[in-house]
Amino acid sequence: MSYAYLLKYIVIGDTGVGKSSLIMQFTQEVFRDKHDITVGVEFGAKVIKINGQSVKLQIWDTAGQEDFRSIVRSYYRSTAGALVVYDITRRDTFKHITRWVEEATNNGNSTLTFMLIGNKSDLESQREVSYEEGLQLAKEHNMLFIETSAKTKHNVEQTFCQTAVTILDKV
Ligand code: GDP
Repeated sequence: MSYAYLLKYIVIGDTGVGKSSLIMQFTQEVFRDKHDITVGVEFGAKVIKINGQSVKLQIWDTAGQEDFRSIVRSYYRSTAGALVVYDITRRDTFKHITRWVEEATNNGNSTLTFMLIGNKSDLESQREVSYEEGLQLAKEHNMLFIETSAKTKHNVEQTFCQTAVTILDKV
């Protein structure tokens, strides 16, 4: 399929927050409840339409490389969007966001667009991080913000598309 733009995303955040699940739901429209390391995607791609133009998204997961220092600089080369994910039911994953943002900022190019994602919004009864806290942190770091559920598909499409719209607005 031909496309007008090719945008590369990197998805970062602690282990278990749902990075692979978000990519899988977006690119393949499947969700697996049980964590299985072998189904973790390292790469996904999908063509979307924005203002009538085809935009190809290439999405890289950091599966198995969650140690901050192990993610090499080259990973970030030519990356347009950084999706930084935490789990709304695990406050520790939210606390680590600043470190992930710093790492991406230090390694990425100056035009990198950040989207902060509070995933697992379907687990409302187990929520440890409020929507307002997420929004506040996003503002502090000049990031877009959204809450998603890779399980119910809530805001999944929106996450990837909104990031692309913001990136293309800067072009
Ligand atoms: P990763 O290590 O960040 O790539 O996380 P995974 O995508 O492997 O997900 C970790 C676990 O959380 C798996 O058991 C998923 O099924 C589960 N999970 C991921 N996203 C969601 C979600 O939105 N809601 C719920 N309830 N579980 C999720």
